Amino acid sequence: MTRRRVLLTRSVAVALAVLALSPVAPAGRLPDKPKAQAPGPVIRLVYRALQPGEPIVVFLETDGAANSASVTFLGRTVDLRPAPGGRSVFAFLGIDLQAKPGSHTMTIKVRKADGTIETIRKELLVSEKKFPFTKLQLKREYVTPPAAALERIKREAELVALATSVVTPEWLGDGPFALPHDAPNWANFGQRRLNNNVLESVHTGLDIRAPFGESIRAANAGTVVLASDLYLGGKTVIVDHGLGVFSSYGHLSKLLVKRGEAVKKGAPVGLCGSTGRSTGPHLHWSVKILDVRVDPEAMLRLPLEK
Ligand SMILES: [Zn+2]
Repeated sequence: MTRRRVLLTRSVAVALAVLALSPVAPAGRLPDKPKAQAPGPVIRLVYRALQPGEPIVVFLETDGAANSASVTFLGRTVDLRPAPGGRSVFAFLGIDLQAKPGSHTMTIKVRKADGTIETIRKELLVSEKKFPFTKLQLKREYVTPPAAALERIKREAELVALATSVVTPEWLGDGPFALPHDAPNWANFGQRRLNNNVLESVHTGLDIRAPFGESIRAANAGTVVLASDLYLGGKTVIVDHGLGVFSSYGHLSKLLVKRGEAVKKGAPVGLCGSTGRSTGPHLHWSVKILDVRVDPEAMLRLPLEK
């Protein structure tokens, strides 16, 4: 008899997979006698698809029986922290664009109140995703930047990496993610780009066709960790939502927030523009979970409670 219980449901409306499982009995041990106590921790995974560029939220319901918990997947480990609603702890993970299709083990370690550690493993099948391909014509100085700009680009990349390297150990978000602007987008996350006939970049954000000068809103509540004019990204705002989740708004014509400022969901962070490496007014919106770029559109589908 197996103690493993897997429940898979599919909601067509949000196209999210929800998977719940109870822990597997440790190998080589007889199952405990049935006791009149709460069952082991229940894990719920929420995602749009198990593919490169997709976010995963891991929920753990412990009934107060756990002191702490962590999850490891694709080489990254993160702690689970209290989720809104008070019934569970949760963590965000992303499947990076270079992730190999196939089976990958997710390991959840639960440190219980009595000091013992329960380890739960789940195999997740990551499937391949084909991203679109395009050719772009850009100003030469953005494809082959002058030597003087290379130093600046390097310095700014370090600045962005530093700003997004600190994981705030609490969730700052306020319910589900929302669009920073209602204009249509090009659905171009992950697009492979041939810039002036040089295969140079993968587009790791989503471009939204917002008109020049219109307000760009924070996709969720958080703290501004960067508000700067970058060579490639142009005027850029990065918001830390906690638990390693960051959203970024690029090519702005004007910055409306400062580093360190707390922003509410929907608060204007800047005005739409075409600064930096851009072919015309639009918003470059990107989301990073730990060091993984994920499709911002998939973030909108995550059923996060207030
Ligand atoms: Zn873009």
